[in-house]
Amino acid sequence: MKIRKSAQKSFIKTVRVCILETPLIHPFRISTGQHDSLHNVLLILRLNDGTCGFGEAAIATHITGETVESTIALLRRVAPHLKGRFIGDYHRILTELGSDLDAIPSARTAVEMALLDALTQTLNIPLWRFFGTRAERLSTDITLVIADAEQTHDSVRGFVRAGFRRFKIKVGLDPASDLDRVRIVHAAAPRAGIILDANQGFSAPAALKFLQRLARFGIRPILVEQPVHRNDWDAMRWITRRSPSPVCADESLQSVADVVRIIQLGAAHAINIKLAKFGFLQSIQMAALARASDLSLMIGSMMETNLSATAAAHFAAGIGGFDFVDLDTPFFIPDHADQNPYLSPNGIYDLVKCASGIGIQKVSSGLRLRYFGIPRNIPS
Ligand SMILES: [Mg+2]
Repeated sequence: MKIRKSAQKSFIKTVRVCILETPLIHPFRISTGQHDSLHNVLLILRLNDGTCGFGEAAIATHITGETVESTIALLRRVAPHLKGRFIGDYHRILTELGSDLDAIPSARTAVEMALLDALTQTLNIPLWRFFGTRAERLSTDITLVIADAEQTHDSVRGFVRAGFRRFKIKVGLDPASDLDRVRIVHAAAPRAGIILDANQGFSAPAALKFLQRLARFGIRPILVEQPVHRNDWDAMRWITRRSPSPVCADESLQSVADVVRIIQLGAAHAINIKLAKFGFLQSIQMAALARASDLSLMIGSMMETNLSATAAAHFAAGIGGFDFVDLDTPFFIPDHADQNPYLSPNGIYDLVKCASGIGIQKVSSGLRLRYFGIPRNIPS
């Protein structure tokens, strides 16, 4: 194999950590809490040749307990281990940092993302080629958060006009209003696919009852995400055996071992892989196990900007076979999704035109960036 001269010389010259922040268009309300704004952490690795690798740590304190402060502190602690290193040593670097990064999964994801972004730019390939031989086009669903009937009606009409054909409806707080909202969506978009996400909000019998009530109105969701508490494996298995719709494990999935557990117990039909929780390298293992065992795959995200969402799209597009794509959060940030060159207004990610890396160099389009120290020569 031809070794490119530039790759031999590429080493990490500077490491910067900043806060990415933005208000959201609407509060993102689910059964376990809500996001009013986005406060994520951005890691920038600048190589000696000027290449910049970007990584985003998506902070969902109400879900993972991670905080912006603890994530920044950890990234600043590992920065000296990154500085001066050859980019080709990315795997060795990640192995060395293993236990340090275990404490904050989203920090691990930011480090992996920035290293892989820089690496694939250096090799002059798009990130999806790191994962596979072709880039599948991906069509993301769009999420309807918990809201009143009128807001739900207005949102779904707007998204139908924009061209979305798959809706993810957050449920699990109040079965009566959940039922009304699902019926509103079905009435506004009768041929659209409906995914329910209860975020652990049901008991197993309540989830089954809810699905049976929907069936009486002729509504059969194409997927039901995390109907019951994440640690209640008996309930996950119970509902998976009886549900008229496939069941997807999201919060239940905490590690590679949990994929094996799900397969052995028959505790779900699908798994939702989120890079913010597992990073890229563990996620490859999860996808391999799922594929080998006929578990369906979903790619999901926390509240993330174009950078993370597009990095996840590269992962799913390259690996292939993701039946469910939930990478819609750029649409919840004002003036942001339309800045993404690979994302169309109807939610299609097409990465074929990405020349190298993740391909998102204007990371902070429409967002506020707060640097630590004085920024020098960092792209906007
Ligand atoms: Mg979910």
